[in-house]
Amino acid sequence: MTKFSTKQLSIIETLKLDVEPSSIEALFNVKSVSELSIDELLFVLTVANATYRSGYPIINDEVYDGVYTAELKSKDPNNAFLTQVESEVITDSKTVALPQKMLSTDKAYSFEEIKKWIDRLLKASIEVGVDKSNIVIRVTPKLDGYAAFDDGTTLYTRGDGTRGQDITRAFNRGLKVANDGGRGLGPGEIVIKKSYFDKVLSDTFENSRNIQAAIIAEKKVDESVQKAINEGACVFYPFSLIENWTGHYSDVLAEFESIVDKIWNAVDYDIDGVILEVTNDSIKQFMGATRHHHRWQIAFKVNSESAQVKIVRVIPQTSRTGRVSPVAELEPTKLSGATISRATVHHYNMVKTNGVGPGAIVQLVRSGLVIPKIEKVLKAVEPQLPENCPSCNSHLIWESDHLVCPNKTDCPAQTENTLIHFFRTLGNNDGFGPKVVAKLHEYGIKRIHEIYELQKHKFVSFGFGDKTAQNLVNQLRGSREIEIEDWRFLAAFGVSRLAGGNCEKLLQHHSVTELFEVSVDNMVKIDGFAQVSAEAIVEGLENVKEEFFKVYSQGFTLSQTEKLSEKHSEDSPIAGKVIVFTGAMVQGSRGDMEKQAKSLGAKVAKSVTGKTSFLVTGEKVGENKTNAAKEKGVQVLSEQEYLEMLAEV
Ligand SMILES: [Zn+2]
Repeated sequence: MTKFSTKQLSIIETLKLDVEPSSIEALFNVKSVSELSIDELLFVLTVANATYRSGYPIINDEVYDGVYTAELKSKDPNNAFLTQVESEVITDSKTVALPQKMLSTDKAYSFEEIKKWIDRLLKASIEVGVDKSNIVIRVTPKLDGYAAFDDGTTLYTRGDGTRGQDITRAFNRGLKVANDGGRGLGPGEIVIKKSYFDKVLSDTFENSRNIQAAIIAEKKVDESVQKAINEGACVFYPFSLIENWTGHYSDVLAEFESIVDKIWNAVDYDIDGVILEVTNDSIKQFMGATRHHHRWQIAFKVNSESAQVKIVRVIPQTSRTGRVSPVAELEPTKLSGATISRATVHHYNMVKTNGVGPGAIVQLVRSGLVIPKIEKVLKAVEPQLPENCPSCNSHLIWESDHLVCPNKTDCPAQTENTLIHFFRTLGNNDGFGPKVVAKLHEYGIKRIHEIYELQKHKFVSFGFGDKTAQNLVNQLRGSREIEIEDWRFLAAFGVSRLAGGNCEKLLQHHSVTELFEVSVDNMVKIDGFAQVSAEAIVEGLENVKEEFFKVYSQGFTLSQTEKLSEKHSEDSPIAGKVIVFTGAMVQGSRGDMEKQAKSLGAKVAKSVTGKTSFLVTGEKVGENKTNAAKEKGVQVLSEQEYLEMLAEV
């Protein structure tokens, strides 16, 4: 039940709406937003926006966007409220023209929407003749502060995007520009450090918006806010100076979650999303803007709604590696529009130390991208810990934070999940999913090579229909005949630390059969493999060796990963070698020399280590550097000597 506070009422009064506050209050309390008319929705949105921006929100940002704005959109997609920039300041009527238009940002709540936006970039790039490979995207935190514009003499609020208010007084009060930036850097946000707010101001102020409002308010600044300004905890943060990830659009698609995660945690200020924008000027110009937002920019926001949920029980699940994961069954709960009834707990140590069991109350968070996660345990109970493997009944053992089933040879869950992993990784044989694998296991088929030996009549005798049996046999034949990469084949065996990327790196040096004979010492010499990984991989390979060769000999068609050392061995003395370039080069730029070296099969590194083969020195390289390299057994070459070596062949 929403009830306005006195503070909120006084803000609503300044809006001079033609409605009694109590009737507006009632609008916030309707059972379903679909009951609201367009006019009523506009009242709600106007009031919610004004109170939010003044630091006394009635509803949070997500409800504002996800519920009320969404409802208005569905009822009246072209309503002016949706197409104009939300007003920043409501308490003062004096406005001045902004030196430059300040628009809002379009918002996306899912990866799908981001992909669509990138599709639009790609189309625009074709129109303006920018090659796909040159499309660069910059990702920055979306600061949740007070939008402002600094032209070097005056600081303006964003206002309605065209006219704002003069708040230069904030600088007169000593407000600093973040990152030691100067004045005149254009658009940015007035923000306050989160850690400082939590430590110093959270007792006095309800939220950081109250402080942002105080920094720019006409009346005298509160002592504690002035102190925060003096200590640099409050700043004006120009967008051009903000931490960012910048890279190719395909990397955005491939690593979206990790990029968002990194940028989300890059600054110690409140943020409410990340902003993605294309940096190519011609694409930006071509895409242009609506009255509301730039089309070349988009904000990714996450619906991080949370709920308190009761746990019914915690069920153990054994993975192919034997590690047992705790899955919490929940009382079904609505969260961000979906009904949630299960959530994964990180590991059993968390179950144990935090008291996760039947009846425990947990805080569940679902963000736009990831599956629901248990953020914290609000009411702990006796933890529900299994003693035995749910699949084979073996006594479980602790390995650091995890409970593990030690039965490596005869645990149905491990066996079935290993088989499922094989076919899924191979990716050319989709008949062998969990159901088929479980059925085969029921009839005593436990190994990959056994499956490949099965004839049609065997499948029929296991209860598969004639058609299905034929189909499975065809799939097994097909998966041997269709060419697949050797690294994918190796990765399918599920050796720890040997996913596709590492397999490919190793196979650039050794053939897939040779790899089983490589010692730890030799593996460490390969770039990217530390002692611990190498030991784990060598041990893991030993464990699957017998099965690997049985399957391998069943006639798969493998394409070989290109060898680094063979690639140019006939014509290049630097193939497979690690080279570091240092100092200024005379005959060409260092960048060009690095590219050339790579094209000849060498690896280019930034600093000298024991793995470095050559240090190529340009001009003005200190003796310390060359001596240190020599001590490590690295051959030091001048630029001239290096070029002569290449020319000799
Ligand atoms: Zn087991």
